[in-house]
Amino acid sequence: MDIFRTASALRAQARAWHRAGLSIGLVPTMGYLHDGHLSLARIARARADRVVVSIFVNPTQFGPGEDLDRYPRDEAGDLEALAREGVDAAFLPSVREMYPEGAETFVQLERLPEHLCGMSRPVHFRGVATVCTKLFAASAADVAVFGEKDYQQLLVIRRMARDLLLPVEIVGGPIVREADGLAMSSRNAYLSPEDRRRALAVPRALDAAEALLRAGETDAAVLRAAMAGEIAKVGAALDYAAIVDPDSLDDVLRVEGPARAAIAALFGPTRLIDNRLLHAS
Ligand code: AMP
Repeated sequence: MDIFRTASALRAQARAWHRAGLSIGLVPTMGYLHDGHLSLARIARARADRVVVSIFVNPTQFGPGEDLDRYPRDEAGDLEALAREGVDAAFLPSVREMYPEGAETFVQLERLPEHLCGMSRPVHFRGVATVCTKLFAASAADVAVFGEKDYQQLLVIRRMARDLLLPVEIVGGPIVREADGLAMSSRNAYLSPEDRRRALAVPRALDAAEALLRAGETDAAVLRAAMAGEIAKVGAALDYAAIVDPDSLDDVLRVEGPARAAIAALFGPTRLIDNRLLHAS
């Protein structure tokens, strides 16, 4: 596996691949890799001839007081996992490489960030859209794979790539879960054993919404209240419990077609998110 630390070195490799007629699949990550990340590398492998995984803890997507300084890192372990997975190249740029001295250009969406996570993390999606634009430019990716775990992020990137006419196809991958149902996340490493147990309220909240819908309840307010109830039961702080249109992310009043149940809750300082597609039967 090749390891690149500068955009120009990665770009030279990407050009060589393209000249040889090979397509490129990119999986952007912040590292501390788990099976969720690796599942995306497998999707990229199925869709492209060469797979690049980037590891970059992007400072511009963290707000003041968030966990940028303590975000978990394990470069050696990550590189081993990627090599085992048969990834062709890892891209590990420095902050200065991604944000050259005096950088002042950002990519900002107008509407999609004004929902869900964007409401409590006002600079987050601007940072995500900006760094992904740079990663797409550096890797010349034909396909980029993002997890549905960060469903709003997937929509933001898909919209941005379309709006900016970027020559990259955005593909979503299903959420990979621990055996007990908790969605895998690098941030799960922060949880104390006690909070790890309480965190199961997050997937339980999605179960509750799904069960009500299956029983014929289509009033989104009732589903939201049930989701919030699961979080309250374990004494965690709810950020949002939402039932939204899967394209616009606007709240729905009634679940009459496909809808997305989405939730964010705080377990001590650790913010966990999860979501699930709901279908009215
Ligand atoms: P992160 O390193 O947390 O920024 O995540 C990098 C990519 O992996 C994003 O596209 C995430 O949506 C995706 N991802 C994170 N956790 C999971 C998971 N449990 N299942 C599937 N994809 C995931």
